[in-house]
Amino acid sequence: MTRELFQDVIDRLRKYYEVEVWDKYQPPPYDVLLEKVKEVDALASLLSDRIDCNLLQQAKKLRIISQYAVGYDNIDIQCATKLGVYVTNTPGVLTEATAELTWALILAVARRIVESDHFVRWGEWDRLKTGWHPHMMLGIELKGKILGIVGLGRIGSRVAEIGVRGFSMRAIYYDTSRNEKIERELGVEYRDLDTLLSEADIVSIHVPLTTQTLHLLNEDRLKKMKKGAILINTARGAVVDTNALVKALREGWIAGAGLDVFEQEPLPMNHPLTAFKNVVLVPHIGSATYESRHAMAELVAENLVAFYEGREPPTLVNREVLRVKPPGFR
Ligand code: NAP
Repeated sequence: MTRELFQDVIDRLRKYYEVEVWDKYQPPPYDVLLEKVKEVDALASLLSDRIDCNLLQQAKKLRIISQYAVGYDNIDIQCATKLGVYVTNTPGVLTEATAELTWALILAVARRIVESDHFVRWGEWDRLKTGWHPHMMLGIELKGKILGIVGLGRIGSRVAEIGVRGFSMRAIYYDTSRNEKIERELGVEYRDLDTLLSEADIVSIHVPLTTQTLHLLNEDRLKKMKKGAILINTARGAVVDTNALVKALREGWIAGAGLDVFEQEPLPMNHPLTAFKNVVLVPHIGSATYESRHAMAELVAENLVAFYEGREPPTLVNREVLRVKPPGFR
């Protein structure tokens, strides 16, 4: 287990496995992980663990990777499948938490919450000797505005639902496939990506990071957004070209951004993104609620237990592996 999960979950796993936990706050360095995986039958991993083909090839006993995240862009899935290694993730149980964090960012940017907090906390409000002014900290109202969802999966759909039902917004989406059920239920309309970017007042990203979505929002695409629009990313940092985003903010192509994920994590302290007042930055906390993180840990364990018992793990990512080797250690 590459980081300490919850004790009750570790205790459950100890009924099936001998569990070794990496108990430091920082992730195990690649070289350490490389050595450790040579001894293990199963690995409970985090998205910060780079699990490439080199590592997988050296992990001769490894049969299952139970990832503590819904995204698995840190794992070479093709290579794992070829080697008969099962990969599981934790979908669904973090949808609410991530959708709620997305809304926290939308509201924080639209209503300048962090900037306003600094204004009060650091004495600017007091210095100005004006308790209330018609132009103080004006923001953007959401009702009737257009919410653009890039990736209408579990999280994207929930974000759309909150926008339509909670804030009376109109929602449009881009995805590789149409979701007619959600279109019907919420009145969400499909757009190609460029049209979505040119129409939406809030653009919220919910696609996984893949070779197709790497820098999906590049300079050209950011230029297509409205001047008054806000970009929200709670998916993966590399879906947006960071240098292009800095340029967009510096040159005022968009009105602001709310970011939970970054191409480089942790984000360096003096990164250009930290200079913008109209950008809210949080440290990859999309799923960080007690409820969600515990449910994720339970699902990590459930997948490992199912595999141990020779059953198909409930949230198996690479289903083709079933044809390579059956589940179980026998
Ligand atoms: P999901 O249900 O699989 O939704 C992803 C959606 O994106 C699917 O509808 C998918 O369509 C679509 N998609 C995939 N590739 C695309 C492409 N190239 N262009 C357009 N659409 C594409 O996943 P989810 O549970 O909502 O999670 C979404 C992502 O959020 C995860 O992959 C993860 O990286 C991120 N996440 C971040 C946090 C955080 O802490 N910030 C927490 C949870 C999740 P198909 O189904 O047709 O492929």
